[in-house]
Amino acid sequence: MTHRPEITVPATTLNNGVEIPQLGFGVFQVPEDETQRVVEEALEAGYRHIDTAAAYRNEAGVGAAIAASGIPREQLFITTKLRNGEQGKPFDAFEASRRALGLDYVDLYLIHWPVPSQGLFVTAWQAMEKIYQNQLVRSIGVSNFLAEHLETLLESAQVVPAVNQIEIHPTFQQGELAALSRSRGIAVEAYSPLGQGADLGAEAVTALAAVHGATPAQIVLAWHLKQGTIVIPKTTRAARMRENLAAATLELTAAQVDEIGALDSGARIGGDPATAAHTQL
Ligand code: NDP
Repeated sequence: MTHRPEITVPATTLNNGVEIPQLGFGVFQVPEDETQRVVEEALEAGYRHIDTAAAYRNEAGVGAAIAASGIPREQLFITTKLRNGEQGKPFDAFEASRRALGLDYVDLYLIHWPVPSQGLFVTAWQAMEKIYQNQLVRSIGVSNFLAEHLETLLESAQVVPAVNQIEIHPTFQQGELAALSRSRGIAVEAYSPLGQGADLGAEAVTALAAVHGATPAQIVLAWHLKQGTIVIPKTTRAARMRENLAAATLELTAAQVDEIGALDSGARIGGDPATAAHTQL
């Protein structure tokens, strides 16, 4: 495999100086037995940032693809997440993830959900700070944290989260939470950035696709990128991997960003972090 991708993805600098490729590749719902093939194809297409989680049960496939690619480790950015049911034993959980990935270090480790009903995310964060201080991760962050969870965490945190990975797509934009995160120095990462495909048929999106000679997915991803948001679209199809990556070459105007911004309807796809436990994850 060539180690030099044709498309240059811009980097976002996190609050500790670490750089993350702004356009990455997510593997939620990629079956374990397909993950190595899918991630190898994504690396071949030019992705250098992969987003997995212990809960996705496919870290070993991600690791196998990384090993098979021969791409120098320092050219890759690998994220994984602390399983909700393991917030009480973060050190063991992290070690299991690191081993499954076959890596010496992870680039970004996230608390997957706050699960306020468990009351464990503050102590889990303290453990993550230790893992960070021990240089087993290059950065630590959170996912699905609402304003109240961020405020609680920041009251005692020694390390400000580098990232808040939250559901964002044209019909569910979470503008206030994104602005609050950014105001605290926390980069915003959009999960389900395509609305799991559901936002691609919106007229504002298809009209702009026609204007730019682009696809709807490229328009939606370019919309995220223009706002400084990190994105991690998922697909199991090689052609779509290339299509989505090419969004990095597309530039929308401020007015076009607003046209898509008008699609916000406040309807979530995923769980509500205020109540979601997902402790089976
Ligand atoms: P996405 O918004 O990335 O959408 C994925 C869906 O869109 C799939 O059905 C895929 O189909 C389809 N798709 C992808 N590209 C195209 C395209 N170019 N044209 C048409 N359809 C397309 O949703 P996800 O929920 O998967 O989110 C992405 C990533 O975010 C996850 O993989 C995961 O890493 C992360 N995530 C994190 C969560 C968290 O709690 N922290 C929760 C959910 C996701 P197909 O595969 O058939 O191509």
